[in-house]
Amino acid sequence: MKKNNDRFKIAIIGAGKVGMTAAYALLLGGGFHEIALYGRDKRKLLGEKLDLEHAMALSHKSAISVSDNPAELSGVDIFVFCAGAAQAAGETRLQLAEKNIKIVNDLVPKLLEASPDAILLMVTNPVDLLTLRAKEISPAARVFGSGTLLDTARFRFHLSEFLRVHPRSIHAYVLGEHGDHSFPVISSANIGGQPLTSFPEFSREKALEAYRKARDAAYAIIESKGATYYGIGASVAKIARSIITNGQSVLSLSTIIDDYYGQSGMAVSVPCILGRNGIERVIKVALNQDEQDQLADGVKALKEAYLAGKPK
Ligand code: NAD
Repeated sequence: MKKNNDRFKIAIIGAGKVGMTAAYALLLGGGFHEIALYGRDKRKLLGEKLDLEHAMALSHKSAISVSDNPAELSGVDIFVFCAGAAQAAGETRLQLAEKNIKIVNDLVPKLLEASPDAILLMVTNPVDLLTLRAKEISPAARVFGSGTLLDTARFRFHLSEFLRVHPRSIHAYVLGEHGDHSFPVISSANIGGQPLTSFPEFSREKALEAYRKARDAAYAIIESKGATYYGIGASVAKIARSIITNGQSVLSLSTIIDDYYGQSGMAVSVPCILGRNGIERVIKVALNQDEQDQLADGVKALKEAYLAGKPK
């Protein structure tokens, strides 16, 4: 295991809007000896490198390397997989499955051949299906997805708007699919140990509205500006920091579940303890029957989408 003061190398796979926003957030957060940018267009990568380098005198210093050849990505500690097609306006995440599973099939073996010990963080959508696929083709690798970390952050923000508590202090999750079948865990959410449902400003209607805003945020933002990237950039930086500091943060991440309230064999988000070696443990959060049913519905929908989207 690496020590805290070791030199960490993170590689961004796919230098589009999400990949580059993640790279920028990682640079501002510091802690990486090297940030490698991998993409197909070397000219664009060189521009991205120079643009990032100009932020260094004002933030942190990292070596920025660029490559259009996965075989050159040796010595990587964390791959952040952001390559692939993004949702168009009105398109669901699951509709991206077929195209992006092909990219995973092609790229993941090459990445892990170059850096066999790396942690592989999947971000490309549909993130749960791609996490499952990446793990299927590389069973020995430490693979997980950013999952509903972003949905959870969005939910906490929208809750904070009417609870008047900092989102960081609102312990509430969105779990399940990163997509239309996600669900909010309201029954066991709390603020400072007080159940959310007995908090003075709590209203079930407003909490469900906060969840709907979180669930539908990508559609609204894509309709408005074409893509979402700041929230996911911050999510990647949070995940990466918990890994390199062995932070053991509890984050909702996509991992293949095994008898989680009776559900198995699909990657979905559940609260996970994240440290230097990736996901150390999954936490069995208290779910009421309705929440368990929503988890089961999401797993069922993902299994059907996987069968439909998997290239034959
Ligand atoms: P984008 O179009 O800006 O970038 C995608 C990049 O992938 C492009 O640079 C493209 O050249 C590259 N790419 C495509 N195929 C490739 C291949 N075979 N090899 C190498 N590079 C390849 O899209 P974006 O807005 O950056 O979104 C990227 C992905 O992230 C999408 O799937 C999007 O849905 C997803 N996303 C996930 C979350 C999340 O919470 N998990 C949030 C936002 C976006």
